Amino acid sequence: MPIYLDNNATTPLDPRVKDAMLPALESHFGNPASNTHAYGWYAAELVEIARENVARCIGANPKEIVFTSSATESINLALKGFCFHNYRSTGIKSKLITIPTEHKATLDTGYAMDSWTTDLKLIPVDRNGFIDKDRLDDELKEDKPCIFSISLANNEIGTIQNVKELVSQIKNKRPQTIAHVDASQAVGKMIVDVKELNVDLLSFSAHKIYGPKGSAALYINKDAALRLEPLLHGGSHEHGLRAGTLNVAGIVGFGKAAELVSIELDTDIKRIKTLTQSFFTTLKSQCSTLILNGPGIDGRLPGNLNLLTPGVRNVDLISRLSSKIAFSISSACTSHSKKPSHVLEAIGLTETEQRESFRIGVGKFTTQSELDSAAKLFAEAISDLS
Ligand code: PLP
Repeated sequence: MPIYLDNNATTPLDPRVKDAMLPALESHFGNPASNTHAYGWYAAELVEIARENVARCIGANPKEIVFTSSATESINLALKGFCFHNYRSTGIKSKLITIPTEHKATLDTGYAMDSWTTDLKLIPVDRNGFIDKDRLDDELKEDKPCIFSISLANNEIGTIQNVKELVSQIKNKRPQTIAHVDASQAVGKMIVDVKELNVDLLSFSAHKIYGPKGSAALYINKDAALRLEPLLHGGSHEHGLRAGTLNVAGIVGFGKAAELVSIELDTDIKRIKTLTQSFFTTLKSQCSTLILNGPGIDGRLPGNLNLLTPGVRNVDLISRLSSKIAFSISSACTSHSKKPSHVLEAIGLTETEQRESFRIGVGKFTTQSELDSAAKLFAEAISDLS
């Protein structure tokens, strides 16, 4: 198989996570909602242990965690949940403030609700993907229920927003505003603490932290819990906010992955940063025209690189290297879209530059020798295609 350098799209399952999941797929198969026998009790206990670990890794209380199937679902629950609740209880449209570099899970949810239950406002970003704070201030003037949603770390260009400062800006100006953070890329690669950030809602997903696909969570604080409408009805699971039998094995895997984040975060960050920086330095020394899109190498999300190779189309690079290296053009969720990248477009790259850019994601299982081989292969391919 090719060298895996697409860890922003998804991460491989940590073998320790797989081992933790197996009992939940075999002997402990009960439905956690079955409260009349040991199968159910045991499954429920596994879920609650996982909930504690998931909560701990973002500094939350276990009661504040609702399990979902994906970060996409968590984001939908946060944004639609808030806007639908307001619309149903008061008939008033809410304002959703976000930025154009967000993941499609946020943008498409906003577009789906726009001019129905919601007024969507996209605040411009600068060349490195940082939000324009003055424009944010302007948008907070109107007297409407308001939710602000932003990614802590961008999935394509690795911009890390100063969420703590942004939340304090919005709460000072309009204290009732709900702050939602998409931390799908941030958890496991930087410290994420919901109390420190002072956010109301936060989404993240197991498959970005070496856990299984199909398992994610929404952190919901006390205030936000009273202002959310569930999207799925059919039972009182997850404090009545997300009906449906729980994916016990997936949740157990998520719990184990989160536990490993709490234990290994510092070591992982240091290692991934060192590997990525030395890979970038090596490649840059061999391809002098290479440009790093987004923030500089020291200030971006560890492991993420978005590279522009002037004169070399990303599709040519992919077709030349895909049997040897797994990397991507943009986010996996936009890979079927005709547009090269809404993120690169929003930070001001021309369409040609977007078509000459590609993304690399280094992860905790990436080795130095893999990166040495990848740097050599990229340098040869870029030189041949230039
Ligand atoms: N938000 C960001 C920033 C992401 O990178 C992703 C996945 O690529 C998502 C949301 C969606 O996550 P999921 O695949 O769990 O739905």
